[in-house]
Amino acid sequence: MKAIRRFTVRTVLPEPLRPLEELVLNLRWSWHHETLDLFHDVDPTLWDEVRQDPVRLLGEVDPERLELLARDRRFLRRLHDTADDLRDYLNEPRWYQSLADGPRAVAYFSPEYGITAALPQYSGGLGILAGDHLKTASDMGVPIIGVGLLYRHGYFSQSLSPDGWQLERYPPIDPNGLPLTLLRDENADPVGISIGLPQGRDLHAQVWLARVGRVPQLLLDSDVEVNDQPARDITDRLYGGGGDHRLLQEMLLGIGGVRAIRAYCRISGHAEPEVFHTNEGHAGFLGLERIRELISDEGLGFDEALEATRAGTVFTTHTPVPAGIDRFPRELVRRYFGGANEDHDVPVERILELGAEDYPDGDPTVFNMAVMGMRLAQRVNGVSTLHGEVSREMFGGLWGGFDRAEVPIGSITNGVHAGTWVGREILELASREVPSVVEAGQGWEKVRDVSEREMWRVRRVLRERLVQSARTRLGESWRTRGAGEAETAWIDEALDPDVLTIGFARRVPSYKRLTLMMRDPERLRAILLDPDRPVQIVIAGKAHPADEGGKRLIQAIVRFADAEDVRHRVVFLPDYDIALGRLLVQGCDVWLNTPLRPLEACGTSGMKAALNGALNLSVRDGWWDEWHDGQNGWAIPSADGLAGPDRRDALEAAALYELLEDHVSAMFYDRDASGLPRRWLEMVKHTIATLGPKVLATRMLRDYVTECYTPAASSARAMGADGYAGARSLAAWKQRIRKAWPGVAVEHVETQGEESPHVGTRLPVRVVVDLGGLEPSDVTVEVAHGRVDETDAIAEPSYLELTRPEPAGDGRLRYAGEVPLVRSGAFGYSVRVVPRHEMLADRAEMGLVAVPPPPHGMTNGDLR
Ligand SMILES: *Cc1c(COP(=O)(O)O)cnc(C)c1O
Repeated sequence: MKAIRRFTVRTVLPEPLRPLEELVLNLRWSWHHETLDLFHDVDPTLWDEVRQDPVRLLGEVDPERLELLARDRRFLRRLHDTADDLRDYLNEPRWYQSLADGPRAVAYFSPEYGITAALPQYSGGLGILAGDHLKTASDMGVPIIGVGLLYRHGYFSQSLSPDGWQLERYPPIDPNGLPLTLLRDENADPVGISIGLPQGRDLHAQVWLARVGRVPQLLLDSDVEVNDQPARDITDRLYGGGGDHRLLQEMLLGIGGVRAIRAYCRISGHAEPEVFHTNEGHAGFLGLERIRELISDEGLGFDEALEATRAGTVFTTHTPVPAGIDRFPRELVRRYFGGANEDHDVPVERILELGAEDYPDGDPTVFNMAVMGMRLAQRVNGVSTLHGEVSREMFGGLWGGFDRAEVPIGSITNGVHAGTWVGREILELASREVPSVVEAGQGWEKVRDVSEREMWRVRRVLRERLVQSARTRLGESWRTRGAGEAETAWIDEALDPDVLTIGFARRVPSYKRLTLMMRDPERLRAILLDPDRPVQIVIAGKAHPADEGGKRLIQAIVRFADAEDVRHRVVFLPDYDIALGRLLVQGCDVWLNTPLRPLEACGTSGMKAALNGALNLSVRDGWWDEWHDGQNGWAIPSADGLAGPDRRDALEAAALYELLEDHVSAMFYDRDASGLPRRWLEMVKHTIATLGPKVLATRMLRDYVTECYTPAASSARAMGADGYAGARSLAAWKQRIRKAWPGVAVEHVETQGEESPHVGTRLPVRVVVDLGGLEPSDVTVEVAHGRVDETDAIAEPSYLELTRPEPAGDGRLRYAGEVPLVRSGAFGYSVRVVPRHEMLADRAEMGLVAVPPPPHGMTNGDLR
């Protein structure tokens, strides 16, 4: 019989064990080994049965066992020590507390979070990154408040059918059975959030509070009784439904999220955020809510509120894959934000403008969440150097007149949280050399001092753990697929703890090319079965439930791995999640990645593997394009732009096989007299020592704090001071500039001495401009100069600002200056006028520029 309601009954702990509850309710346990050890010792067998989920552990542990522990003095001492350690961790000053001018608080919005396998609220890299961001903020004392949704069915768990087809299950989640508490007000009543919907309806939500170390995380949940069933189902699944459903989720996340923050800060006394960080477009509506607040609370106009909001907003874009970007039909947005639900302060037409693709190649029928995110944020970044470039190209239309290089989208390369991803044995090795290696994220270079024998021993421990665990998982998977006892006996011998182990695990969108390694199955088979230098591959990954193509790729892999001759050397492990990911990145010797360049924005799994001493074997894309140095792994040459898709796959697969045969396995099996692969270990140590400091999320967060959060807070303060005088004047100024801009022109440019230019001389330039009624202080007039290519483009221009204009008649102005000629070769220059205001974060911010009429710029012959 099926239960009509389900709930979780919480154990009442004996008084002496009460601190256990405090420990469980703070997710710091997910990356704190001593706390996990303590949970393990509560009931070692049960701990494995509940898959290391402490809430389930306490829910299912035998009360007699608890009574026993409540009298166990040694256990109690450890319990108190661990609880004291947590309190110290929560209260002592950390890195951020030594800074002077950082924001008082930062709100971080993300549609998904990967914190622990016990909270399956993530689908892939975006969520894992968000989880690592919060954990690292906690370690560094950065005052972040995380905001998200609580999905009642999370993301699916994956299994396989007998013929290798992906099956999805959405196990229901009872928030009472999770390490969450309901946010309650002063009277202990649950806090209710609501947002308006069409036809005068409201969508209600409650708010769950998770504690990620020092960081509070607010999760909105629409499954409350005041909602009708469709409304209750809005937060049912991550990336589940189509247009309407998705839009409603995002309205709740953005608009409801801001309201939840206001409630939380009021109740807890937490500082109000000065900066809002939008992790990908999904949460973009938060900007609209803040505009609405400013209009109603501060009496600002829409444009003034927009300036104030933008100043304190950071937007991070995460993918160059168009399908990864949220786009809604404009009509849908009009339906939900217009009509009876229209807020007269935030007119739907203004909202539509913010998300409009009103640039060449844009689609006039869609509302683009990333585009809105960029218009609502004064600071925008991609997630690796290469992705920054790709994003400037992709979104350059928003800053029309500027060269791609000047599009104001920067980049901060992602990083990973060491405490979560690095094997305990590696952490112990590292902290033997440097005690502060984990907490401070520093000192990884000392790993060079670890002996090679010691490093090899630890690498084997981790590989062996992966092999053991893979066998267990493989056995479970085969039984689920209907195999009997006799058919699974071989699994006890599957994989080998001494064989070169390659890991490949990721979501399965087509650009990740799950099956590239199988392009030539016979060649792969020969590599796996090489009698002297065998190779084994462990594969995992989930396809989006609606992605039939992805499921076919998984099926192809599973069928290949089912074959009797190779099944001990290649395995597909179902249900890729944080727990499996940890096991893989720690246990593999080589981390393989074969995306279609440049579609991998960053990729983080290879960083996790590198921190554990795995060598990367990857197409130069994302972070690997930036940090591959020839000694930390191998770059698979990309045939990007050289060949059609099929030919390209063939070329890249052939290069992959060649690297595997001639370099990777050759080096792994090249042993000295004592059995150590010296050259391999040299690369391992080099990898940890040099990549360690770069790929850590501590580096990433420091970059966000110094390059984004702190400048954004300072811009926001400049806007807000004196009753938002800054926002008011900036909005008025921009309006004046936009109106006058069509009249701004560079009318005349003249130089002398172009006939015989020499290095070391100066080129005098005189310019006549019409400012169309603007003041000289409203603009910068500048000469862009530098080397030119065959098309006369100035590749990396330097700028000389021209000052002190003189009247040139008819309201025109004459500017003059001298361009230094510092290098020989083809040289060119041009002149332009751009708006200038101290509150602009970038000269391209408004997308306005005036240049001389064509042919502009002048090229000279060689400079001597
Ligand atoms: C790290 C991680 C990802 C993201 O990895 P990519 O390299 O960006 O594909 C996805 N899922 C899980 C479970 C992870 O641990």
